Amino acid sequence: MYDLRILNASVVTGAGTGVADIGVDGGMIAEVAPPGGIGPARTEIDATGLYAVPGAIDVHFHCRAPGNPERGDFASETAAAAAGGVTTVFEMPISDPACSTPEVFRMRRGLIDADAIVNVALYAGAAVEPARAEEMAELGAIGFKLFTLAPPPGREREFEGLWASGDGGVFSALSSVAETMLPCVVHPESDSLLAILQGLPGGAGRRPPAVEAVAIASTSAIAKEASVKIHVAHVSSSDALDAVRAGRALGADVTAETCPQYLLLDERAVERFGGLAKIAPPLRTPADSEALWGAVESGELDLVASDHSPFLAREKLDVEFAAAPQGLPTVELLVPTMLDAAVRGRLPLEKAVALVTAEPARLFGLERKGSIAEGYDADIALCSLTEPTHVDAERFHTRAKSCAVVFESLQLRARVEQTLVGGSVVFANGAIINGGAGGFVAGPRTVVRETEPV
Ligand SMILES: [Zn+2]
Repeated sequence: MYDLRILNASVVTGAGTGVADIGVDGGMIAEVAPPGGIGPARTEIDATGLYAVPGAIDVHFHCRAPGNPERGDFASETAAAAAGGVTTVFEMPISDPACSTPEVFRMRRGLIDADAIVNVALYAGAAVEPARAEEMAELGAIGFKLFTLAPPPGREREFEGLWASGDGGVFSALSSVAETMLPCVVHPESDSLLAILQGLPGGAGRRPPAVEAVAIASTSAIAKEASVKIHVAHVSSSDALDAVRAGRALGADVTAETCPQYLLLDERAVERFGGLAKIAPPLRTPADSEALWGAVESGELDLVASDHSPFLAREKLDVEFAAAPQGLPTVELLVPTMLDAAVRGRLPLEKAVALVTAEPARLFGLERKGSIAEGYDADIALCSLTEPTHVDAERFHTRAKSCAVVFESLQLRARVEQTLVGGSVVFANGAIINGGAGGFVAGPRTVVRETEPV
């Protein structure tokens, strides 16, 4: 007898969508069968009318624990992930202290095991010596992260070992990562161009697409020379897309993502909400958003990730725009944004789902995640496709929900009803109901040592 059966769900897989029953045993999907085809189980979920999609894998996520608990920690922000149908997040290494040493990596891994409601993988800082990068790969890093610009003033500790400036610095960092064989996620913005532009009269806060495009192009050329695979974070503009194409034309191994905020919002949100809508790269023109949708449809963008970045509204509003921290809480919008695009006919449902499930699993080597099929982890989101419904920040679970008001004018036609992690229901009826299901997800280079179980 299985632990659980899910009955009459419209199961979305790469092959298509059809009504089926899902049998779950020992945290894994044991069987997917036509309705009525699975025997009794210890528990049962009637999913009639709901879509069963693989739990989403968000490769760009920040909770920053343990540095700023008022903004979020692994418990609060993985609760937000669960509420959004996201069952695996890849936590970025910006934290205080920065996740660029084996000691901090181990400490954060311990926090995940203690607090996480969904699965969490960890990136490590890329601007480190090769031996240190190798050590973090063996400790279980899912990949590395490199910023091509210096940190914002006052946040130097959070970015230690995460950034390099200038082509030589970028080459050194990418060369350290290359030896690990893991991918390096790049936040591409040109330090020197930003400095010049923002120093011009009236230039405060100036951050045009050229800042992003030039860094993508140069980092791609350097990545080819360093023989490393790079993943371009948060592509925001049409020019940046052209730079990704240029990087591929150079022969570099380049994948790229965009995020719900760039697809759903544009620069008019900054006019309306000021610092609250400040992100980096910034929100662009409606034509840029349209170009991003086109690249999502064509497959030139490999996946969609949230870049969930919790801050408190007062931190973003009580200062000059130029000093406001950059980021929005978006993990709860990732799956609804993609399902809404399918309902609107923008993307086939299977493609919309794959961009946040099978594609990230494939790119980062998570072999048992990203699909609803026998032998995969039972990480599943049960979703309803609804009438257009306004986004309601009050219903968000992130500790940073005060910033989510920037999305409130939007209407989405999809809602996450239940989320399962390893076969356990962690979110249902609008509430987190099981805090203990998540854990550390080890990257593909992990070395298990008997004295230090992973
Ligand atoms: Zn980010």
